[in-house]
Amino acid sequence: MCGDVRYKTLAEPLRVTVCHCRFCQRFTGSAYLVEPIFRKQDVVFDGATAKTYEHRSDSSGKRVTLNFCATCGTTLCLDLERFPDILGLCGGTFDDPNWFDRGPSKYRHIFVRSAQRGVVLPAGVELYQEHALRLDGSQNQPTVLAHALAVAKAG
Ligand SMILES: [Zn+2]
Repeated sequence: MCGDVRYKTLAEPLRVTVCHCRFCQRFTGSAYLVEPIFRKQDVVFDGATAKTYEHRSDSSGKRVTLNFCATCGTTLCLDLERFPDILGLCGGTFDDPNWFDRGPSKYRHIFVRSAQRGVVLPAGVELYQEHALRLDGSQNQPTVLAHALAVAKAG
C-alpha cells in the first residue's frame, strides 16, 4: 500500500486459489484470500525487506509465514513449510489485481466449509471442503456446482 516493499512477478501464476480458511480470514480481516501461486524464482522483491510472522497451521502443524510491510502492515505473501518451492501472493496487492487469468483450469476455492455467510461460491469451479491435497500428498475430491450458491449457514 505505501510502496516501501515492491515486487514483480516474472511468469503467470501456476494456479489461483481462493482460500476461505479461518487463518486467511483473520490475517486479511475479510472473507477470503485471493491467492495466485508462483514459483519462488518467479517473484522478485525490491525496496524494503518485508517483516515476517510465523504461524503454525491448526490442521497440518506446519509453519505458515506471513510476509508484511513494516511501515503500512500490508500482507504481501505467504510462504509455506509444506510447499517450499512456491509463494502464495496476496492478489489484492498487485498494481493491477486483475491481470492474472482465473479460468477454471487454474482456479479453485478451498476451505469452503468455513466460507462466510453471504459469500457466493461460483459454478463450474473446483470447490474443496479443506485443502485440495491431503498431508500424504493425495488429492481430495472436489465438488463442482452447476449453479452459483450463496453460503447460508453461519461459520
Ligand atoms: Zn487459508
